[in-house]
Amino acid sequence: MPKIPKRKNRKIPEGFDLIEPTIKEFERKMREVESESSDTKRAVESPWGVMRVHHQRSRYIYDLYKRKAITKEVYDYCLNEGLADRHLIEMWKKPGYENLCCLLCIRTTDTNFGGTCICRVPKSQRSEKAAFQCPNCGCRGCCGKID
Ligand SMILES: [Zn+2]
Ligand SMILES: [Zn+2]
Repeated sequence: MPKIPKRKNRKIPEGFDLIEPTIKEFERKMREVESESSDTKRAVESPWGVMRVHHQRSRYIYDLYKRKAITKEVYDYCLNEGLADRHLIEMWKKPGYENLCCLLCIRTTDTNFGGTCICRVPKSQRSEKAAFQCPNCGCRGCCGKID
């Protein structure tokens, strides 16, 4: 997982201060799940928490931008600072990927479910209807739109 780079040289755009408290909150959450993951009891789940926060933060910034609640400058700044994942957001713009959990789950190698992760398979087409969490990020199914 990419570390949040130190904000040093880049000029902070006007309006960023409006979202900064929430960004700080995400950073706090990230540290929390990172310290949790050093706890061996949770070793299996360890990357999931980090990925969830990573996802939520990108989603938060992208939604604000879509609703025009933040300017393009603030949005670009967040992308450049790695506060939002530009590759993930690129995927969200594609039909059927609006709710994609993480990029790992659409990687075409290392999976045995027709090239994509089980969480990308629509509920109706899944053989096991029972609740599951995908091995990559703990996703419970992210095909199609958020309902
Ligand atoms: Zn997923
Ligand atoms: Zn998955």
